[in-house]
Amino acid sequence: MVDLVGQYEGIKEQVNKGMDGVLESASFINGPEVHAFQKELETYLDVKHVIPCANGTDALQICMMGLGLQPGDEVITADFTFAATVEVIALLQLTPVLVDVVPDTFNIDIAAIEKAITPKTKAIVPVHLFGQCANMDAILDLAKKHDLYVIEDNAQGIGAMHTFKDGSKMKSGTIGHVGSTSFFPSKNLGCYGDGGAIFTNNDDLAHTIRGMVNHGMYKRYHHDVVGVNSRLDSLQAVVLRAKLPKLDQYNAKRREAARKYNLAFKDHPDIIIPKTVNGCEGICDSCDCHVFHQYTLRILKEKRDNLVQHLNDNGVPCGVYYPIPLHRQKAYLDSRYDEADFPVTNKLVEEVISLPMHTELDDEQLKFITDLVLNFLNQ
Ligand SMILES: *Cc1c(COP(=O)(O)O)cnc(C)c1O
Repeated sequence: MVDLVGQYEGIKEQVNKGMDGVLESASFINGPEVHAFQKELETYLDVKHVIPCANGTDALQICMMGLGLQPGDEVITADFTFAATVEVIALLQLTPVLVDVVPDTFNIDIAAIEKAITPKTKAIVPVHLFGQCANMDAILDLAKKHDLYVIEDNAQGIGAMHTFKDGSKMKSGTIGHVGSTSFFPSKNLGCYGDGGAIFTNNDDLAHTIRGMVNHGMYKRYHHDVVGVNSRLDSLQAVVLRAKLPKLDQYNAKRREAARKYNLAFKDHPDIIIPKTVNGCEGICDSCDCHVFHQYTLRILKEKRDNLVQHLNDNGVPCGVYYPIPLHRQKAYLDSRYDEADFPVTNKLVEEVISLPMHTELDDEQLKFITDLVLNFLNQ
């Protein structure tokens, strides 16, 4: 699905040199590389505070801890996402409230959020699924109206630009009260192990969170709050520093691959190509709203599972993200859920397929994959 070895070729010198430097200085935790990366990411995102941490799941959990959410508080998020999002809500003994998504962008459904809001609701967690922002205009409006926090799960969207209705722009993850991301190797900005970060423009929240990631310490050996141990290590920061200046270029390559997939698939009656929030269908050259963490098609007429098999048989990797809605996962069953409230997710889990998507896809590979898909559907 990804080609990290091919990508490494382009940054090898810088990564190896940086890693040698870390090994020689033995400054493995909270060293100068981590600090430099933090500053560089703040500049790139145009956000006041980046707080690096150990992974994207921790990042989300720490966002919720930092906001002071308490057991019993309800947190609304999407039914169609990776389990990490709902996992941390449950771990903190908050009450996850899963809601449906919209079929065109696969992102959280605004009407469903509105319907789920109760006096106990404290936060909304939009997930910028597959690389483009949820409807942040509407989410910020709802949050304001009901006095809710907005926590962006930006693990899949780093580098995506959100354009507001008034034309102003902000980078994904910096729009809500706080945002999180993951540097897992296959993410758009991935390191060579685990890593994550939290973003906020709020000085007080940033201060709280900086202590929380380090055992709740604001002064050495003074533990003011219950914290966690969640740090980005210096070797990972070296990799991230090599990749960050290329992130826009990497994302442009992903968009270019998506554009070629779209052109091949757009007229096929059994395929629905991914829609972008700005409506350009990812076919225009100037799109900045989608960073295609995944390139995900809907395959109609119950042909998805056989297509997965066919691609596997022919040595082409593919993925089904996600095969089971979270509301039907054993760990997150809740008698308040009604199947009738999840028509879109229930359908998507049967239709979606994600094709190889990375920075090293060439025309020959793309043609091989698109031919394989089209020949199968046409047979
Ligand atoms: C990858 C991912 C996470 C978790 O990130 P890790 O670094 O693997 O902990 C959380 N949410 C979403 C939507 C993700 O895709």
